[in-house]
Amino acid sequence: MVCPHCSNPTDVVNSRKQRRTNAIWRRRRCTSCQTVFTTLEGIDLQSVLRVAQTPTALQPFSRDRLFISIYESCKHRPTALMDASNLTQQVITLLTGVQTQPGLIDRVTIIQTVHRVLKRFDKAAATYYAAYHLL
Ligand SMILES: [Zn+2]
Repeated sequence: MVCPHCSNPTDVVNSRKQRRTNAIWRRRRCTSCQTVFTTLEGIDLQSVLRVAQTPTALQPFSRDRLFISIYESCKHRPTALMDASNLTQQVITLLTGVQTQPGLIDRVTIIQTVHRVLKRFDKAAATYYAAYHLL
């Protein structure tokens, strides 16, 4: 990883496992300008998880698509962007335990999981999501 300011090499000065999100957090320091910044290493879900739209139509999992569907449902909130980001991570964590077979998840399971998480978080967001995705 190179420095975002001067493109020189960096060293890792601190590192921690994030058990809840299955990620590794690292503090890095530039060897030249001494800038300190954080990186997060996580699984590229698109490379390991497929979504069954129908039993025969499979698509790579898209975190962006999930985020947008949640963000659209939270738009009425002043903190929609941050809320959608946190909720997306929460849903992804829940989805790792409900794959029908390793690497495969049903589209309906994703929708039901998002709806359940939204219902606990914000009733209006859940209603919007249901109207758009559950009919
Ligand atoms: Zn630098």
